[in-house]
Order: sequence, then structure tokens, then C-alpha cells
Amino acid sequence: MIIILKPSATEEQRQHIIEKIESLGLRPNVSVGVKRTVIGVIGPEDVVRSVPLEAFAGVEKVVPILQPFKLVGREFKEEDSVVQVGDVRIGGRKFVVGAGPCAVENREMLLETASFVASCGAAVLRGGAFKPRSSPYSFQGLGEEALKYLAEAREKTGLPIVTELMDPRDIPLIEKYADMAQIGMRNMSNFALLRELGGLSKPVLLKRGNMATIKEFLMSAEYIATNGNFNVVLCERGIRTFETTTRNTQDLSAVPVIKQLSHLPVIVDPSHATGRRDLIEPLSKAAAAVGADGLLVEVHPSPETAMSDGPQSLTMPQFAQLMKNLAPVARAVGREF
Ligand code: PEP
Ligand code: MN
Repeated sequence: MIIILKPSATEEQRQHIIEKIESLGLRPNVSVGVKRTVIGVIGPEDVVRSVPLEAFAGVEKVVPILQPFKLVGREFKEEDSVVQVGDVRIGGRKFVVGAGPCAVENREMLLETASFVASCGAAVLRGGAFKPRSSPYSFQGLGEEALKYLAEAREKTGLPIVTELMDPRDIPLIEKYADMAQIGMRNMSNFALLRELGGLSKPVLLKRGNMATIKEFLMSAEYIATNGNFNVVLCERGIRTFETTTRNTQDLSAVPVIKQLSHLPVIVDPSHATGRRDLIEPLSKAAAAVGADGLLVEVHPSPETAMSDGPQSLTMPQFAQLMKNLAPVARAVGREF
């Protein structure tokens, strides 16, 4: 349930409520909004209901949360959340584009791509150091070496970096080098890993599993939030359907549906959704139009030689064109671009 405090509630009253909750072995989650402060109480329903929290000074009302996702749902927090990645804010007015290669293949290609996407207006640099490949014989990523190149690219361009984390043993490396941890679609349901992310000091980009319902997607975000990390950005990256002309099917209706259900920012990855570079621009425009907070797009200096995801990677001139053509669409729906 959530406890909504009166606007006039004092710090002392708030502290008293929190202490009461903790004394029952329950976990309070305080969310200070523009309009009101709410305290989420997570724990067994009978224990939660055993205290007449309505009677405490400073409490306006106590509301049960009906949705299964408690902390990431709109019932808990009405206003949109903004997640800070380095100096970039995702979920505010600005439409944020994250771009870069699927994998960091070497220093030169990364630095070249990073400077180019930055010059076109990308706000975040992506690049895989640990690659989740279907074959154990395919390129697996350069690991820490790639993270060092990413950190160098951030130095040079000022762009914060997002990179995939697959193994909880690599968390110290993510803490050391990255600005945001990407959880790929294959790990969306790796609950042990999600739990570990609760303690991460960096925000998380959570990708939707290709077989996950919206509810399952939000429950995965809930795992991260309930373990202590509210800085989660959701990414719709395509789901598996019967359609074979695209790699996956971009579920664009998920964007406004998630916006109704959750306060978390939502971005769209048209690269993995379609697997086709010719579809990136139309889907990017559509993503902006349906209310996404940004994009994640793969860009490669020479896609034909890419070690992974070449067919869906934009060339650098194509990325420049995308940014130019996307700007009026994003602005038309009230976003800064
Ligand atoms: C990626 O971003 O390169 C990636 C592997 O994405 P996904 O987990 O969505 O397949
Ligand atoms: Mn990829």
C-alpha cells in the first residue's frame, strides 16, 4: 500500500511513520514528488494492514496498490520519473537519442563513431563490451578493454555511456567505467541479476524480453526498484511474432500502454526490433509520435564489416539524415530535440 502524506506533514512526522513501518519488519520507500510525498510499504499484506497508519499525524490517506507492480506503477507515483545518466536527463522534455555500435570492435571505430554521433546531436553513446551471442563461437566482445575505450570516448565527446551487463561478477567493472548498465532482452527475466542491480549506483536501461508481456516487463523493473534502485529506463526492442520480414515486431503500442501504467521513462530500439536499417527512420519517427522519451540506435562506420548486427546498423551519413528528419517530428509532439 502507499501512504500519502499531507502537504503540511513535517519531517518529524514523516520520520515517525518510517520508524513505525520499519519496526514491523516492513520496508518503506519514500518518494518525494512535486505535488506530494508518498511512502510505499512493501511486505506481507496482513502485517501491512495490522497498523492503523491512517491515524498517524501527517497522513492524508492510505491507498492499497492494486497493480502487481507497486513501486514502478503510476499508483505509487503520479508524475513521470526522470532518470539522470551522467548529465543527460531521460524522461523530461528532451527526446534523448542513444547511438553507437552494437559492439565495441576496436578503439578507432569506437572513437570515430562516438565523435560523429555526438556531432549529430546524440546524447548518449552505446557500445557492447560483453555481447550476448547465440553462438559461443561468435565474437563475444572485448570486455574490459572495450570499457576503457568507451570511457575514453566519453572523455573526448562528453557523452555518457551505456553498455550491457550480463554477469553480476562484472558489476565492479560497470561501476568503474559506465554511466548506465544495459540489461539485454535475454536477461530481462534473470531475477538474480535484477536483484543485484538494486545496489548499483548507476541507472539501468532495462530491455524488454522478446517474449515478455508488458506486465512481465514491468515486474522485472519492479525487481530492480524494490531492491533499491529507482533509476530504471525501459526499452521496447521488439517482440517475437509470426512475422518474418522483420527480425522482431516493434510493439509501439507498448509505449503509451506503459506510460499509462508506469512513471518510468520509455525508449524505443528500432534496430533490434526490425533488424533492417531501412526501417530505422520510419520507426524512430513513430516512436517519437507515440510518446517515447528517446531512442537507442545502432550506428557503425562500415556496417558491411561489422562483427555483429551489421544489417541493422546505420552508416554515419544515414544517422546524420535520421537526426535531421526526426527533429521536426519530435518537436511537433512537444519534445525538445
Ligand atoms: C544490443 O543492444 O546490442 C542487444 C544485444 O540488444 P537486445 O538485448 O535487445 O537483443
Ligand atoms: Mn546489437
